[in-house]
Amino acid sequence: MKTNARAVIIGGGAIGVSVAYHLAKYGWKDVVLVEKHELTSGSTWMAAGNVSFYHPSFYCTQVNMKSIEIFKQLEKETGQPSGWHTTGSIRTADNPGRMDELGYYYSMNRCLGLDVSFVTPKEMGELHPLMNTDGLLGGLYWPDDGDVDPNSMTQAMAKGARKYGAELNLHTMVTGIEQKKSDEWIVKTDKGDITCEYVVNAAGLWAPEVSKMVGIEIPSIAIAHTHILYETINAVEKRDTMLPLVRDPDKSVYLRQEMDSLILGMYEANGQQWKKSGVPWDYAQEELNPDIDNIAECIEAGMERFPVLGDTGFKHVTAGPITYTPNGDPLVGPAAPLRNFFQACGYSFGITQAGGIGHYLAGWIMNGEPEIDLWHVDSRRFGSHANWAYNHEKIADIYPRLYSTFFPNEFRDAARPNRTSPIYEYQKKANAVFGDYYGWECPNYFPPEGEDLYETPSWRRSNAFKHVGNECRHAMNKVGIIDLTRFAKTRISGEGAKAWLNNMTCQKVPEKDGQIALSPMLDHNGNFKSDMTITRVNEEEFFCVTASVGKKHDQHWMLTNLPTDGSVLMDDLTYKMGCLVLVGPDSRKVLEKIVYGDVGKDTFKFSTSQEIYVGRAKCRINRMNYVGELGFEIFHPIEQQISIYNSLMEAGKEFDIKLIGMHAMDSMRLEKGYLAWKSEMNVHHTPLETNVAWTVKLDKDDFIGKQGVKKRKEEGIPLKLVCLVVEATDSDPWGYNPILKDGERIGMTSSGGYGHRVEKSIALGYVSPEFAKAGTKMDVEILGRARSAEVVTMPLYDPENEKMKS
Ligand SMILES: Cc1cc2nc3c(=O)[nH]c(=O)nc-3n(C[C@H](O)[C@H](O)[C@H](O)COP(=O)(O)OP(=O)(O)OC[C@H]3O[C@@H](n4cnc5c(N)ncnc54)[C@H](O)[C@@H]3O)c2cc1C
Repeated sequence: MKTNARAVIIGGGAIGVSVAYHLAKYGWKDVVLVEKHELTSGSTWMAAGNVSFYHPSFYCTQVNMKSIEIFKQLEKETGQPSGWHTTGSIRTADNPGRMDELGYYYSMNRCLGLDVSFVTPKEMGELHPLMNTDGLLGGLYWPDDGDVDPNSMTQAMAKGARKYGAELNLHTMVTGIEQKKSDEWIVKTDKGDITCEYVVNAAGLWAPEVSKMVGIEIPSIAIAHTHILYETINAVEKRDTMLPLVRDPDKSVYLRQEMDSLILGMYEANGQQWKKSGVPWDYAQEELNPDIDNIAECIEAGMERFPVLGDTGFKHVTAGPITYTPNGDPLVGPAAPLRNFFQACGYSFGITQAGGIGHYLAGWIMNGEPEIDLWHVDSRRFGSHANWAYNHEKIADIYPRLYSTFFPNEFRDAARPNRTSPIYEYQKKANAVFGDYYGWECPNYFPPEGEDLYETPSWRRSNAFKHVGNECRHAMNKVGIIDLTRFAKTRISGEGAKAWLNNMTCQKVPEKDGQIALSPMLDHNGNFKSDMTITRVNEEEFFCVTASVGKKHDQHWMLTNLPTDGSVLMDDLTYKMGCLVLVGPDSRKVLEKIVYGDVGKDTFKFSTSQEIYVGRAKCRINRMNYVGELGFEIFHPIEQQISIYNSLMEAGKEFDIKLIGMHAMDSMRLEKGYLAWKSEMNVHHTPLETNVAWTVKLDKDDFIGKQGVKKRKEEGIPLKLVCLVVEATDSDPWGYNPILKDGERIGMTSSGGYGHRVEKSIALGYVSPEFAKAGTKMDVEILGRARSAEVVTMPLYDPENEKMKS
């Protein structure tokens, strides 16, 4: 076994082998994989092997697409069959909400150029003659989906990995991991140590234990999953073409052909966690005892949809452990707060993604940035709140609902409330309907007394619509408070702080105390890394605010770029400071009543910051906001939030002050054309394509991403961000809607919604520059149906920013 390597991959399941294969294939010679048993010894060996394009996320769908491409060509490349079969797949719907969901997938998939079509119950019956289509409204059909033999596919990639020079060590167990001062890792195994630059944790069921070796707790727990292989079925045996995979999400079952029979899989109501406190090291290739009583309901449901199952005996019942995370998606990418340690675990659909994620993660490790935006699976999307106990509660909720309809406005109750602002109880008393953002309880809206305190999940305008409209109009005409305590806040200080920040952002760091600058951080290619606002406190101190859900991601990026000589210090202030945002034309009048200081138009100018006493609390107030009204972001000591809140509410009584939620904020930011992180701002776009191109200061000294942006500018900006007004009456664009011109796709929306102040349905999206002129007519496809749209000048609301600057 090698004692030195560029990368060590821990785990020889489908995922680890794929990462090793791709790293070696793309040119890294010293790639070493260590597997404590035989290859595929965790979940991989007993998987059903269903592989489909379907995934709720646009980018994960691309990972699946890459997998299928890889599985299809593995045999040609390695000489070893992967066991791939193209069978096609159907996803059914038996209710209108599900049909809407399928409409979303249809439109999103068309953005990717996938072959997908709506099918009627009759057509589904023709595609799968053993299916009883009673009660179905329709479905989607992907002709290019299929299944793969998990063991053959892993062995084929292992063969490929060896062919390209990787070393795969079986029966070698990792027992400890240390990092040297030089950043090199020492991976300790029972066969000796390996010194390396990069470590990849692909230890599947044992990934939490491997993470603990480097001091990280990851939210991943094993659940017993069952599928049943039936005895030979004549009607299947007689066929000369393969039956398509069918997923009936409303019955929580899937069914696919296996040789001359069928496999029925299920997500039962009472998912059973296995080895809750950690999978024993000596577990390998062992089936669990199936609990037939627990899955009886799903077996019945399977027989209803496929009556032939009622006449056929079980050949084998397979129950095995799968890892689950709090939202069912895996944990991939750089592990915060470490350097050069990557996660590739937490997979519940790791066969489907094995090929694709190996490709994309290898690229991420080798180039420092992912080729496509992988935030959806990024391990840093879970904050420190996502601990073992949280995960335990979340998974009990998520597993039985894996096939439930996905709605963009649904927030499940499990493991909540978790993180709360001190004024949480006050928000509750004001009828808040909460959402859960990065573990924080944040009010989405506040219905009046007597109204339903639950937002009905829907792809269409929900029961929240009219209340959100009232809040937007209130912010426009009077005054409101938005709680943004969850903002990620970081203090950067020290003699090197200014120069360092200037290197971290494309914007010029403010030169005057109290100045604020919108300061995106870019990646090495010049694409958006983070949405940051910098306030200069003094020459050596800066107050940086970034998106709440990006906290771990953004702070990890800053930390790994921090100089080691102590000239720059970084403090996380997120949990020490709250943020209440006062917005609306009367906001100054309210503030004036309770501050010790001057907040007048001429003394406290737009886009500046001051330290002011609000009542008894010393606060930092930034004169800006995300909704486009006169407004003040009041950052305050968290322990004084209730006192500040009460002062604001008392002072605001005469102005009819009201609380305003996240839905209204999102609606208003669309009207202002303000970008949202991971919607408009992701790894596919430079600021040059957007309305914040002015933040890129190419005339300043070097900054991360400068060469990338310059190159992009020289090559010609490929896309332009536009604002579209859409003729929609019941369902507004959400993002990932195709933008069409004469039926041809010319772009895609990045986000959308209804703008209550301008009374229009709005989408933001990227199109080819020739279509970006105001007045250009096009279509936006929503839930599978094209609606007329027109490019308008951005922003739609208060284009001169007169309100904000008033
Ligand atoms: C019954 C069942 C049906 C399934 N059906 C499907 C399906 O149809 N489609 C789909 O996409 N997915 C399916 N899955 C899920 C899929 O099997 C997993 O997501 C996937 O196999 C995960 O692969 P992995 O490489 O991450 O982990 P694993 O397969 O668990 O591999 C991890 C490996 O790491 C090794 N290891 C752990 N710790 C150490 C250490 N300290 N030192 C050295 N080696 C170590 C282990 O021995 C193991 O071989 C199914 C799973 C089950 C159980």
